[in-house]
Amino acid sequence: MHTVSERFMEKRTDNISRIDRLRADRTLPREQLRLLLTTLSEEEAAYLYKNADEVRKEHYGEDVFLRGLIEFTNYCRNDCLYCGIRRSNKNADRYRLTTEEILDCCDKGYVLGFRTFVLQGGEDLFFTDEKICGLVSEIKKRHPDCAVTLSIGERPRESYEAFFNAGADRYLLRHETINPVHYRQLHPEELTIENRVRCLRDLREIGFQVGCGMMVGSPFQTVDYLMDDLYFMAEFRPHMIGIGPFIPHGDTPFHDRESGTLQDTLHLLSVIRLMNPRVLLPATTALGTIHPLGREMGIQAGANVVMPNLSPTGVRDKYMLYDGKICTGDEAAECRRCMELRMEKIGYHVVAARGDSKV
Ligand code: SAH
Repeated sequence: MHTVSERFMEKRTDNISRIDRLRADRTLPREQLRLLLTTLSEEEAAYLYKNADEVRKEHYGEDVFLRGLIEFTNYCRNDCLYCGIRRSNKNADRYRLTTEEILDCCDKGYVLGFRTFVLQGGEDLFFTDEKICGLVSEIKKRHPDCAVTLSIGERPRESYEAFFNAGADRYLLRHETINPVHYRQLHPEELTIENRVRCLRDLREIGFQVGCGMMVGSPFQTVDYLMDDLYFMAEFRPHMIGIGPFIPHGDTPFHDRESGTLQDTLHLLSVIRLMNPRVLLPATTALGTIHPLGREMGIQAGANVVMPNLSPTGVRDKYMLYDGKICTGDEAAECRRCMELRMEKIGYHVVAARGDSKV
């Protein structure tokens, strides 16, 4: 028999050695990973963050890469149950930026030191392949030293090929959850995990730097589903992984669900860093939304990317995926400056670089 404090010591030592093993092997057997994710004390969490931070520094130093996010349309043909811009949300005030507005965001962003522009939107077929290609090639023409990232959902392989040939460098498409049962609980019938993964594989074969990822604490998520996501990502070897807490939106079927937690998100960022040492890992706006210092804590837990908003202020509060989104009133220049100060304060430096993946 052990005293309580001895038992605590035992458990503590176990998690410390699990963290050491995860760092050395980049993986853990399923039952060990489950224990790590479910029994972490505060001190052990600090040890986990420290290890993830060291691994991130081995590959990327103290640099934090900036991505300028341009939310260019909130029209969407999909009806994802968690998302505030789902097509059946009749309260959403829909908008599309014009070509000139989008290019203007990039020009302003360039002056501010952004070297990656992320065009994100709902699945809006008003933006045909031709329009997207035209936009991408114009951005690349004006700013040849910049990377263009697209985040516009599922399209046929031929469309992705056209985007790549037009000069797009990266593509973000969170897989959302690799478990088909869970996928069905979060999405309408016509969306399938099979097609999502098909898209991800096509994108990578075509030559994009590819990002996948999921929300933390989404409705019906279990530890098993999360572990499936972690193993899936380690096997898929994406260049980028985007995770952030689920946050409910008042006009969706999940309006009365709880948000994902800060702690779970930080733990997962660190575990992801240890499993994927060179991955580009953002501290997301959603993380900054559930805690005022969420993004700082994310960086300290192993993330190395931030994505300040470059969208015109007039539309920012219309691109509402979830309630309470931060920074909807700030000009791009303010967001850029604010981010620089926030990162300097914790000993990191935002850099004006493309910040390509080392995967
Ligand atoms: N239409 C594009 C872009 C989606 S928005 C696509 O399908 O890829 C980008 C991400 O925001 C989504 O992948 C989703 O994971 C996240 N998101 C959507 N609703 C959210 C919510 N309520 N809380 C937190 N994140 C959310």
